[in-house]
Amino acid sequence: MSSSQILREVFGYEQFRGPQEAIVSHVITGGDALVLMPTGGGKSLCYQIPAIARQQAGHGVTVVISPLIALMHDQVGALHEAGVEAEFLNSTLTGEQASALEKRLLRADLTMLYAAPERITTPRFLALLDSLHARGLLSMFAIDEAHCVSQWGHDFRPEYRALTVLHERYAGVPRMALTATADALTRADIVERLQLEDAQQFVSSFDRPNIRYKIVEKKDATQQLLRFIQHEHEGDAGIVYCQSRRKVEDIAQTLCAAGLNALPYHAGLDALVRQTHQDRFLREDGIVMVATIAFGMGIDKPDVRFVAHLDMPKNIEGYYQETGRAGRDGGPANAWMGYGLQDVVNQRRMIDESPAGDDFKQVMRGKLDALLTLAEGADCRRVHLLAYFGETYAAAAPGRPKHGTAPSGGSEDTLVPSVGAMCNNCDNCLNPPNVWDGTDAARKLLSTIYRVQQASGISFGAGHIMDIVRGKTTDKVTQFGHEGLTTFGIGAAFSEVQLRGVLRQLIATGALNVDGQAFNTLQLTEQSRAVLKGEVAVRLRESVSTPAERKPKRGNSTSSKSNAAPLALDDAAQLRFTALKAWRGEVAREHNLPAYVIFHDATLAAIAERVPQTLDDLQGISGIGAKKLEAYGEEVLRVVGL
Ligand code: ADP
Ligand code: ZN
Repeated sequence: MSSSQILREVFGYEQFRGPQEAIVSHVITGGDALVLMPTGGGKSLCYQIPAIARQQAGHGVTVVISPLIALMHDQVGALHEAGVEAEFLNSTLTGEQASALEKRLLRADLTMLYAAPERITTPRFLALLDSLHARGLLSMFAIDEAHCVSQWGHDFRPEYRALTVLHERYAGVPRMALTATADALTRADIVERLQLEDAQQFVSSFDRPNIRYKIVEKKDATQQLLRFIQHEHEGDAGIVYCQSRRKVEDIAQTLCAAGLNALPYHAGLDALVRQTHQDRFLREDGIVMVATIAFGMGIDKPDVRFVAHLDMPKNIEGYYQETGRAGRDGGPANAWMGYGLQDVVNQRRMIDESPAGDDFKQVMRGKLDALLTLAEGADCRRVHLLAYFGETYAAAAPGRPKHGTAPSGGSEDTLVPSVGAMCNNCDNCLNPPNVWDGTDAARKLLSTIYRVQQASGISFGAGHIMDIVRGKTTDKVTQFGHEGLTTFGIGAAFSEVQLRGVLRQLIATGALNVDGQAFNTLQLTEQSRAVLKGEVAVRLRESVSTPAERKPKRGNSTSSKSNAAPLALDDAAQLRFTALKAWRGEVAREHNLPAYVIFHDATLAAIAERVPQTLDDLQGISGIGAKKLEAYGEEVLRVVGL
């Protein structure tokens, strides 16, 4: 079958998305490839279609390297639903199952084998691959989540390093690496580590036009989050990221107490509990997962409607990857983040105290600063994010494909965003914040820190410094005689919120240092001088309350909710849609798979709208391939006809 036949008949899709076609035809003919595509862009088909085509052409088995067991299970389940011979080899198999599978593998009676990197590099597995290779039945390697090989990525997994064995041992076997993370540094590292120098690079646009970015300053973070969910996402599935396990537990409890269906997830929970919570999130509607970043990689649930960060992530790569889990189905979704001075202090301290070398720390600080600049900025979030990944945002013109291909290579040079470009789907575009000049406040703060240090010989924390600048006679001020300083009260006109903002930015840009070993005291740095001299301007966004923070109205109209069908359905169609969803739920439970693996909401909505009478009528609806038509066609017609 040709690749477009496979797309249509096996997967039920009419058209390739963006660069998929180019990638597929390059790989089918045995080319190596590095595929950089945002989450939800459709990476899986890029290796699944070549795997099927190459198997049909007699090249044998494709080995897919994937870091997570849960991901393998659902991906293989989805392939079975589409009638593709795929299996996974991991620790969940019994000894008997594993050896049966090994026999099948040796017979090359399999299109795709999913396995974890640590499994692939065992002598036993390599011996199996050797045997296939010797007979020309080792078709291809697909390395998913390839950024795991890089220490610059946000998810370094040492096991990925051992994958060098693939190109050393099986030099002629085509390899493709796929990832949704790719700043220039990580990309270069992937190329080097996996020896993909000669591979063709396919770099998609990283824009996710359906995600609305919002970044707010924390005041009462938990309440802000609660209002955001209640106001904009009642009944929706979402993920809330927190830094610590304790906080995950606390927030999950608070959300439950407020009547939301929330579950905690972190590495400290019992493995079984973790698994149950993940399964429920995937399989039930409208669950809010409160989690550390231990949760999420490989979660390909398409209808996650929001991702919220209650603590600031380490860098933009992590932020973008995590927020990218929202709205994979292309429907409207929100990415919400709260940040504050404490986040900056914590993240800085974590870097400072880590055992890593100085060079590494320097890179990490730079990455943190970039995220802070995003948070503090008044420019379009999307333009800013895309610029970080080396992409210039082109405002959506009518008919512009959602996933255009950016020219590969050389795009690192274009880091400057087109000035004033706007996406009209982020907080700064929809609600432009005022910007104020904080240079004067910054100088007053810095000179106070200098004088206090001179007068007392020790450093103090942010609270005390702000009290002096604002001229507040606290016990501590009196105790140290700081009301006698010439800078006492020089910044009385500034609010505490303003000064906090200035301090945050000074810390972010390295013009102030926080000493985590000494009660988070503030110290001047080399960069302080330029600010003190007025050579560097400090510009800040004014705190604005976004509409999400307003109190939800009682009897909220359904229009603000997004958990309805993806298409606007009339009442009768809505009834059919609901009936189809109930039927799908039963099938999914029987097959022990998430509902979306059976059919996406969008497919069910299209069926509900079209009211098909015959199997022929079902053909051509996006998401219904030959196998699904055969397996579920009659049932679907029955449910629709009820
Ligand atoms: P990624 O791995 O890049 O995050 P996936 O491969 O999981 O993305 O694809 C995201 C969703 O888009 C999946 O539900 C997939 O079925 C769907 N999809 C991928 N390619 C197409 C296509 N050409 N037409 C329609 N839907 C597609
Ligand atoms: Zn914008």
